[in-house]
Amino acid sequence: MTDQAVATFERNLRGRLIRPTDADYDSARALYNGMIDKRPRMIARCADVADVIAAVHFAREEGLLLAIRGGGHNGPGLGSCDDGLVIDLSMMKSVRVDKESRTVRVDAGCTSGDVDHATHAFGLAVPFGNVSTTGVAGLTLGGGTGYLTRKYGLTIDNLVEADVVLADGRLVTASTSEYADLFWALRGGGGNCGVVTSFLFQAHAVSTVYAGPIFWEATHAKAVMRAYREFLPEAPEDLGVFLGLKTVPPMDPFPKEFWGKRACAVIGSYNGDAADGERAMAPLLEAVPPPAFNWMGAMPFPAIQALFDPFFPKGLQWYWKGDFVKSLPDDAIDTHIMQAGRAPSALSLMHLYPIDGAVRRVAKDATAWSTRDATWSMVIAGIDSDPTKADALKTWGRGYWKAVHPYNLGGGYINFMMDDEAEGRLQATYGENFPRLALIKAKYDPKNLFRVNQNIQPAVA
Ligand SMILES: Cc1cc2nc3c(=O)[nH]c(=O)nc-3n(C[C@H](O)[C@H](O)[C@H](O)COP(=O)(O)OP(=O)(O)OC[C@H]3O[C@@H](n4cnc5c(N)ncnc54)[C@H](O)[C@@H]3O)c2cc1C
Repeated sequence: MTDQAVATFERNLRGRLIRPTDADYDSARALYNGMIDKRPRMIARCADVADVIAAVHFAREEGLLLAIRGGGHNGPGLGSCDDGLVIDLSMMKSVRVDKESRTVRVDAGCTSGDVDHATHAFGLAVPFGNVSTTGVAGLTLGGGTGYLTRKYGLTIDNLVEADVVLADGRLVTASTSEYADLFWALRGGGGNCGVVTSFLFQAHAVSTVYAGPIFWEATHAKAVMRAYREFLPEAPEDLGVFLGLKTVPPMDPFPKEFWGKRACAVIGSYNGDAADGERAMAPLLEAVPPPAFNWMGAMPFPAIQALFDPFFPKGLQWYWKGDFVKSLPDDAIDTHIMQAGRAPSALSLMHLYPIDGAVRRVAKDATAWSTRDATWSMVIAGIDSDPTKADALKTWGRGYWKAVHPYNLGGGYINFMMDDEAEGRLQATYGENFPRLALIKAKYDPKNLFRVNQNIQPAVA
């Protein structure tokens, strides 16, 4: 790569090219997960689609390793790379709501909070995840689960079309009617087939919700988990509710007597008024001992989406393990409680996110994301602010996962994986859709330019 080639690339960018010699290089390369420390050769902070096209051409022609960064939240830091080029989309943040068609055009640098903010003004929302600083791009391309999933499906089930820069630099729009194979692969196949520059989503009427967490002391965890297991299939789909094994954070506003105690929690959001929300939660609450505290109440939807943001600032150490879970037998519950009790830090957690309702009404082969017959997507996350705890977080996460995995399905949500999964894990995750995904990868990215991701090797013809 000549200096002249770099200079030409830089001159033609509307955005910025950030290099190791720049004063803000360290802040520009910093990822959400403080455990990951990658040093790209260059970061192209793109201002528009033309910049993205130029960056794709530049990386391909110069033989540079290429990473794509949406929100930079990915566990193993797949939004960046060592010694390569990062396409950083964080400047591309336009959101345009069409209130007639209830659709939302979202630039690929948006966080889910950016979109919630824009749609809430119209009493609308798109199903995203439950921490508002997460990037829409990576979350969507991996699938996307959140409070609205039971009623409206995964984020990808609400994707209408996407603009994509392909490996050869062409910009195409993928939908069910154009580039339908590419559109199929985008919905769950991660960033394997190109750089998405904008998404068009279907939004839904969501405004004030009845939402928040309910915590029980760990002594009640078994009763709560058993009751939640029975409650979920009967609960109205307007109620998105996940279960967590956690520690009560030792800080306000949590009641002092519970600070640092192990706990079981359900965190829910009912799309409707408070009285209906209380009614929806009643069968669960009647089946278990009284909680330590119940903080469900009426709030604007963006408030529940951002409720956990303050506990998870950028830069913490994170080690992730995930699985899809079909059922939760009593033995599995006992194993979870034992493993969660060994958590090495107060922030470490296990969550079970529902995969039911609308998710199951989409055929397994309709999108690359295939495990629509699961009941939950489980995540085990070892989390702490102290980098010296990194090994303890990994050891705990791996041990916990190993203990519960025999009760679970073979695959897991790609957005809850690190980059140290066993061989065959992606095949197990995509199941019967895997060969088709590898063929589409071969069609759109035969040389695997887009390989800094949960990578699908192009199928050999
Ligand atoms: C605190 C926290 C909470 C979370 N909660 C949820 C949740 O509730 N539900 C859920 O589903 N997930 C959740 N996640 C997981 C989240 O979906 C993943 O971390 C996801 O990868 C984040 O996307 P990003 O754009 O921020 O990531 P990045 O690190 O920027 O990118 C992640 C991957 O996507 C690819 N990519 C990014 N942008 C593009 C693009 N424009 N075109 C093509 N490829 C691209 C990258 O190459 C990379 O492989 C959570 C993560 C965190 C850290």
